[in-house]
Amino acid sequence: MSHQTSLTERGSFAVARCSCGWAGPARRSRDRARADAETHALTLPSPSPPPDPVDA
Ligand SMILES: [Zn+2]
Repeated sequence: MSHQTSLTERGSFAVARCSCGWAGPARRSRDRARADAETHALTLPSPSPPPDPVDA
């Protein structure tokens, strides 16, 4: 899954959003919201990692 982040402005707040459905907290600073997006893209959370086979 690709992570395409974008910035959405809400009044005086900025919210980072991602194509995966993730959204960051509302920030007063655009730089902060952008940092949230970068952190998200770097950590790349996987919602459902495939289970490891456990037949020993
Ligand atoms: Zn994402």
